[in-house]
Amino acid sequence: MSATILSGKEVGAVVRQEVADRVAALKERGKSVGLATVLVGGDPASQVYVRSKHRAAEKAGMLSFDHNLPGDATQQQVEDQIRKLNADPLVDGMIVQLPLPSGLDGNSAVETIDPLKDADGLHPYSLGLLVLERGYLRPATPSGIMRILKHYEVETSGKLAVIVGRSFLVGKPMALLLGAKGVDATVVQAHSRTKDLAELTKKADILVAAIGRPRFIDGSQIKKGAVVIDVGINRTDDGLVGDVDFESAVKVAGAITPVPGGVGIMTVASLLANTVTAAEHSVL
Ligand code: NAP
Repeated sequence: MSATILSGKEVGAVVRQEVADRVAALKERGKSVGLATVLVGGDPASQVYVRSKHRAAEKAGMLSFDHNLPGDATQQQVEDQIRKLNADPLVDGMIVQLPLPSGLDGNSAVETIDPLKDADGLHPYSLGLLVLERGYLRPATPSGIMRILKHYEVETSGKLAVIVGRSFLVGKPMALLLGAKGVDATVVQAHSRTKDLAELTKKADILVAAIGRPRFIDGSQIKKGAVVIDVGINRTDDGLVGDVDFESAVKVAGAITPVPGGVGIMTVASLLANTVTAAEHSVL
């Protein structure tokens, strides 16, 4: 039997409609909603991501502000641009497209963002609130994954969740969200030094792959009936592929996110949701 497809397209459309309704309600009160992006350099993949964020923001009725700095911009220039956006009342949410070109410090740039405008939910303040289980603007990718699990009514309480990857962007916040009170999964966080990874992944009721290696986990490493969340986006000669070998995994898993059409769409939807949350907060 083939797994249920957990469609980011379907869930993303629901979230975007909710966002559009909230944007319209704010407009009726005379408040516009604005998302700004800061892109440094001309990395083609980053340009594609930024364009898709602007398109999605505009479709949801938001203003969108595109700031492109040259690849040789200094840290000071990048952070000055962020400070300008912090001070701009038309900007409710902002993202700095990561990674920055080598030589620039992405962490320092993210820390320059006003935490109340942190659309990606990656500022240390946002991550700190997550640790305290008082999440406000949540990390966009893990938060989008939680929304997929909720939409498809995936049972999490008492389930064993194995997260492969421990980046601050995905793996770490994912572990916090799945292990939070009320979600109640038992979380194991794996990484490149984990021994016998396949033994662990084969036990997972919920398996999240956030590794950055094409088709790294295949069907033989997945428990029958497991829920598999593939975060990976890897560009290969066959096009975009995930960290999970979809062909073999789909035959074993109970449910699985496709790549493309899965988590990536939810990341954009979540950052729009964070932006409208920030805008609502600003008029409280
Ligand atoms: P990252 O910062 O490079 O982290 C990768 C993680 O995978 C690290 O924790 C690393 O362990 C672990 N890892 C690497 N090789 C491993 C191995 N052989 N066995 C076990 N663990 C291993 O990457 P990331 O930013 O988390 O992104 C992960 C993937 O998700 C990438 O493909 C990225 O493009 C994609 N992504 C997608 C979205 C989306 O919207 N869908 C958003 C963000 C990222 P160590 O810590 O020990 O090095």
